[in-house]
Amino acid sequence: MIDGLPSPEVAGRLPALATLLDGAGVDALVVTNLVNVRYLTGFTGSAGELLVDAGGALLVTDGRYREQAPGQVTAGVEVAIAGPDRRPTYVERLGGAARVGLEAGSATWADQRRLTGWLEEADLVPTEGLVESLREVKDAGEVARIEAAAAIADAALEEVADGIRAGASEREVAAALDHAMRCRGAEDRAFATIVAGGPNSALPHARPSDRVLASGDLVVCDFGAVVDGYRSDMTRSFRVDGRSGGREDELRDAVRVAQQAGLDRVADGVPLAEVDAACRESLEASGLGEAFAHGTGHGVGLDIHEAPALSGSATGTLRSGHVVTVEPGAYLAGLGGVRWEDTVLVTADGHRALTRAPKAD
Ligand code: ZN
Ligand code: ZN
Repeated sequence: MIDGLPSPEVAGRLPALATLLDGAGVDALVVTNLVNVRYLTGFTGSAGELLVDAGGALLVTDGRYREQAPGQVTAGVEVAIAGPDRRPTYVERLGGAARVGLEAGSATWADQRRLTGWLEEADLVPTEGLVESLREVKDAGEVARIEAAAAIADAALEEVADGIRAGASEREVAAALDHAMRCRGAEDRAFATIVAGGPNSALPHARPSDRVLASGDLVVCDFGAVVDGYRSDMTRSFRVDGRSGGREDELRDAVRVAQQAGLDRVADGVPLAEVDAACRESLEASGLGEAFAHGTGHGVGLDIHEAPALSGSATGTLRSGHVVTVEPGAYLAGLGGVRWEDTVLVTADGHRALTRAPKAD
């Protein structure tokens, strides 16, 4: 944990969720997604469910968290340390609810069967995106954590950049980035670091291999850090040994122009699909429309991929406080690929970049 960051405003989240229950057609909600449990309560344990109704919230967890849970949860959240038979706890808390929501994206078949057995009088109703919709707009404490994670990733890349040279393997470069992030205070990497060189860079989600980088290769490095649960996400594309010229450089330049076109569209009130369209039209103008085979970006926070998605089919709009990536790429089989990605905070009239590593060699 990095000292001096403002605290996230956890206390207001459960009241905000309570206002959404009616619209979702439920009297209560069983939150099974642990990331959502953390967001709503502050509890960081690896097991637990949160029972939410108009009267408040009860965190049900086990004996491993007897001390941790009461110390972490925000005011107003009760904690139950349940033994092997949790049924009485659920019946007591939710037995009067006629319609109980279950998070469709995380509740398992087994969860559904268990709760059907316990709450015999209730209708179980699938809900989608309730807590996730609250998580889209970040408060100052959340932005500070993502920004701190981004700064760690920036510094790690600066430290490691000289090692992206002929003779180094993808796996070595990835390990060096991970090590540098941990040494600078990251509690983890935000996701499995991607370092992909030469032909492998044409695979958008390549895994680092033992392939040794060769002079002139394109290399895609996609990585991020975690600070207090919050993630950063950044991609930089290099030429090994700083070589220049050829189709590889055309790709790098074209994607950089496309990313800037997307970033230039980012602001409060702009349709999500417009950012995607700006990147896509730019790459189409460069003859690379077919080579851009993924969405333009995604929200970043406690999860590496969260709402909102910036894709051609997205229907919502950007809002101040969203933290999103803009990450167009172009991938040509046999030659290689390029992606430029930044994590940015959406503001009233534009954006503020949280990842800041330079984009030129
Ligand atoms: Zn990424
Ligand atoms: Zn990303």
